[in-house]
This record gives sequence, C-alpha cells and structure tokens, in this order.
Amino acid sequence: MTNFDLNDKVAFITGGNGGIGLGMAKGLASAGATVVIAGRNKTKAQAALAELKALGGKADFVEVDVLEEASCKDAVGGVAKKFGRLDILVNNAGTSVRKQPQDLTADDWRLVMDTNLSSAFFCSQAAYPHMVRGGGGKMINIGSMMTIFASSYATPYAASKGGIVQMARSMAVAWAKDNIQVNSILPGWIDTDLTRKAREQVPGLHERVLARTPAARWGAPDDFAGIAVFLASPASNFVTGAAIAVDGGYSVLA
Ligand code: NDP
Repeated sequence: MTNFDLNDKVAFITGGNGGIGLGMAKGLASAGATVVIAGRNKTKAQAALAELKALGGKADFVEVDVLEEASCKDAVGGVAKKFGRLDILVNNAGTSVRKQPQDLTADDWRLVMDTNLSSAFFCSQAAYPHMVRGGGGKMINIGSMMTIFASSYATPYAASKGGIVQMARSMAVAWAKDNIQVNSILPGWIDTDLTRKAREQVPGLHERVLARTPAARWGAPDDFAGIAVFLASPASNFVTGAAIAVDGGYSVLA
C-alpha cells in the first residue's frame, strides 16, 4: 500500500536500541525505511541491529548522549549527511527518577528534563532544515500517561511528558507550512527496562496497571510498530499536532 510505504525514507530514532524505540524501529524498517537507531549502549544496539536486519530491514547505529545538545545535533546532522536525507525523527529517549517532589535534587530534575524534553527540542531543531530540504517530514514524540495524569513519584517525568506534547503542538503549528507533521504518542504501561525498574521501586504497581487497563495486559514494544508507520507515512499527511494514546484503553476508563 503506497499510503504506508516508507521505501527511500530515512528515520532517526533516539533510544531505538531497545524497548518502545526498537518496537517502532521494527515497524519502520518493515515498511521499507532505512532506520538509524541512536543511543549510548552499544551492546543493546548490536542486538537491536541484528533484530532489524533479520526482518530484512536497512539499519544503522549512531552513538548519542541526548543529555548533550552538541551530541544531538552532531548525530542528526551526521545521519542526514551520511544518507543524503532525513525524513522521519522519533524523539523517544527517556528516563525517570522516582522520588517524592520534596526529595528531588536539582540534578534529578535536570537529568529527567534534559533527557526527555530538551533532547527532543534539540533533535527537532537539528532535523528541521533537512526535512525542509527534502520537501517535508514526520516528527514523532513520545509522551506518556503522565502527559495526562499525575503521580507523587513522577514530578519531573510528568513535567517533561506534558512539555513534550506542548512542544510538539507548537512545532506542528510552526512547520505545517513546510509539510512537516509533528505528532505525539502517549504509551500506556509497557513492559520495558524502564518499567521493570518502576515495578521494583513502586509497590503494587504491576497489579494496579493490570486492574486499570481494559485490555487486561501490559503493552509490548511491538504494539508501537503500527502507530509509528502510520505517523511516519503519507497515511498521516493531514494529521498534525495530535497526541494518540496507545494504552489498551487505560486513559478512557472512568
Ligand atoms: P527503555 O529504558 O527501554 O528505553 C529508553 C531508551 O532511552 C534507551 O534505549 C536508552 O538508550 C535511551 N536513553 C536514555 N537516556 C539516554 C541518553 N542520555 N542518551 C541517549 N539515549 C538515552 O524504556 P522505554 O522503551 O519504556 O522508553 C522509551 C520511551 O517511552 C521513553 O521516552 C519513556 O519515557 C516512554 N514511555 C514508556 C512507557 C512504558 O510504560 N515503558 C510509558 C510511557 C512512556 P541507552 O540504553 O543506550 O542509554
């Protein structure tokens, strides 16, 4: 289907070396895109590249520390140069520090805000001129249920995930004239390294999530392959500034 065809497109995914990022990378690679996964952990990246190539995908890895503005800009610019274009950016890298607000240090706050929000801003800014040169592009930002809801242990995380969606909406408005669509995905509770740690740190979390999710299961990274293809492909050309929940119904249960 040409609507979902990503042949000849180049995608850059922060944190694409594992978890939800890899789930999205697999979707994009299956649809024909050349997928560049960007992260710090090379061992994870090698395993991810093997998975992508086993699907018949075209894939590459670039080392990036999204805490550094220069690293974000160099990585995005380097990929555009190496492949001659950049069509799809996925701002997925994320982290959390789980403490009550009164116990958070300034470093905790900066770590979460810089990883989850500032990195998305720097990568988007770096990708913009390459997308303009290519006649358009697709930016996908990863929010959270903490974009909508709140928790006592998630102050910087919720602030960053509220912020990323508002950032995406603002860029959607600014860059619609350039044929760049900027959207967000709001994952429910997904079984990844991030939430495995949360389950260890927050008593009863696993059971609470199951009880509140109408689909009665935790999500899997592969649940994000389809939405990534939709938001990266011509199928979503009139969709911009949207925030789409992929949550098994978690956010609509009264
Ligand atoms: P993972 O921990 O599996 O993935 C996080 C990714 O972010 C890793 O691949 C990691 O790469 C990358 N990353 C973190 N810090 C940096 C850094 N400084 N520089 C470069 N890369 C970095 O967790 P998830 O897959 O769950 O998380 C992916 C996104 O989804 C995050 O934005 C998260 O907030 C969001 N999300 C997750 C939910 C869930 O239930 N799992 C729910 C809602 C949102 P490396 O290992 O190389 O550092």
